[in-house]
Amino acid sequence: MGTSRNGSSTRTARRLAAGVALGAAAALALGTPAASAGPDGDRPGRGGPPPTGHDLPKVPVMTGSGGAVASVDAVASQIGIDVLADGGTATDAAVATAAALGVTEPYSTGIGGGGFFVHYDAATGAVETIDGREAAPMTYDETVFLDDAGAPMPFWKVVNSGLSVGVPGTPATWERAVERWGTQRLGDLLKPAERLARTGFVVDQTFHDQTVANSERFSMFPETARVFLPGGEAPAVGSVFRNPDMSRAYRELRTHGVDSLYDGRMGRAVVAEVQEPTTAPGVEVPKGEMTRADLAAYATRDKAPVRSEFAGRDVYGMPVPSSGGITVAEILNLMEAYEERTGTPTSGVDDVQYLHRFSEASATAFADRNRYIGDVPGVPTEELVSQAFADERSCLFEAGAAMARPVPFGNPDGDYAECDGGEPAGVLPHEGMSTTHLSVIDRWGNAVSYTSTIEQTGGSGITVPGWGFLLNNELTDFEFRPITPGVPHPNLPGPGKRPRSSMSPTIVVGADGLELVAGSPGGSTIITTVAQIVLGHYERGLSVGDAVAAPRLSSRNGSSESAEPQIAGTDVGAGLTALGHRLSPTAEIGAATAIGVLGPNRYTAAAEPTRRGGGSAMVVHAED
Ligand code: GLU
Repeated sequence: MGTSRNGSSTRTARRLAAGVALGAAAALALGTPAASAGPDGDRPGRGGPPPTGHDLPKVPVMTGSGGAVASVDAVASQIGIDVLADGGTATDAAVATAAALGVTEPYSTGIGGGGFFVHYDAATGAVETIDGREAAPMTYDETVFLDDAGAPMPFWKVVNSGLSVGVPGTPATWERAVERWGTQRLGDLLKPAERLARTGFVVDQTFHDQTVANSERFSMFPETARVFLPGGEAPAVGSVFRNPDMSRAYRELRTHGVDSLYDGRMGRAVVAEVQEPTTAPGVEVPKGEMTRADLAAYATRDKAPVRSEFAGRDVYGMPVPSSGGITVAEILNLMEAYEERTGTPTSGVDDVQYLHRFSEASATAFADRNRYIGDVPGVPTEELVSQAFADERSCLFEAGAAMARPVPFGNPDGDYAECDGGEPAGVLPHEGMSTTHLSVIDRWGNAVSYTSTIEQTGGSGITVPGWGFLLNNELTDFEFRPITPGVPHPNLPGPGKRPRSSMSPTIVVGADGLELVAGSPGGSTIITTVAQIVLGHYERGLSVGDAVAAPRLSSRNGSSESAEPQIAGTDVGAGLTALGHRLSPTAEIGAATAIGVLGPNRYTAAAEPTRRGGGSAMVVHAED
């Protein structure tokens, strides 16, 4: 945790929070209720030290200097702030925060998962990325998720199985990021997470609800039930949740390096459990095929980002195997093309017309995403993010009526005309809703946008015995069979292949340098959430905090589109319906974080005020 845990940064964050109205979830995070008090009076649980940061409030927006961190969890954000206050870089803080999120958000991220790390270097202006996506075992081919009759296996059967588990990329990502842009030792950056897992954190409503929602499938795996359903039940709100096995896992990575996972005893435990999942009596699940050779062969990939231009700025995102960078770029390009086509800027239309445009742009971009993007050679990235392609694709747009769904996919062939009607597109069935995003900027202006995941909330449901972390089910992000008959599909399983992702860690750079860091969880809605934050901030006059909090809509080329109640149940929703949009009311979409740059070493960190129980934005030195 470092010596600054009780230092000025902690005090500043708490003092500022005291003046901010806290939501219900934030109040819960504050609690040390009687139920958790142990024999030592104010010591929760069965003695031992109080849980790390148990009284930290969640504050959704904070402005100040010295560096900023925004994540979904107050303890994790504070751990990152402490690293920044101690002189660490954005990368150092991002890794320490991510490791802490592995403890407090074990159903969304952690050692058993993967992710994408995007870095901005203030000295050079360079944006670079690390692809830490999970990989399929070398034995996989296009038929791996088909049954003996050639039909796709039931989705949930594959989720809760060894077959869905990809080779984890997260520890290797941390190691690579620190090697490239860190100044501290990985082992030191993992210490706060190790301690947090040992001393515990106070259970909030979101963690409790996620455990309850997964309790049936967690019960399929005795080790998962032992760790996450202590006493057979989801831990109560306000109680302290400790995970000594996960603490041991962090200690192992800290003292033996990530090789313990890729070529050591932690890896042997992973492989054994994937190949022969330990299940409750009467429960049978498909076995996985990951081997020690698959683990040993895993490597992160350094990649150039996807770059596109929007509103006079450079927007950087994650390339293949994520579809995030490309699809966010196409949506933004289409919004600019609609301005050209209609003669009215995005900033000048009412909310109905704005969301109509956004929905049409999203559906169009998703048609192209689904057709062209996957972990295959030859993805036409430059064409897909070109303004010329978006200009051609924009010809389908009408201000007075929604396009029929599914919108056809286009031809990013470099030869663009006034209009190309496109070709019939298929619609995707499943995508998860888990994951977590953290945003960090340090005092020098270096930035990290990092989204990490274990796919579903609770991943595969399989906990590695003795190590306390859940394994991902990322391989269900592959399609089980082609979505459009007769059309080659880029996202079928293959040996060593990485499944297509929607994760969209994003960095926006303007003429004077870094302006915005943003990202979100939410499966394929990640793409629309991030695009909406960028549009909200640059085109709809919203501050970064308001752009994160604003109501969301997500159109992904299905027959209906998700809309939060503040859209679906209002005049705006009625206006969209009148244009032909079929809205599907959805309680919440995404759980974003962002940081905006206000000037040299002056930042606004932003997290959700309410979605997923609210997030936590912090700066090292808060402005009063
Ligand atoms: N597995 C998803 C992806 O990579 C993320 C899952 C989620 O955000 O819930 O796109």
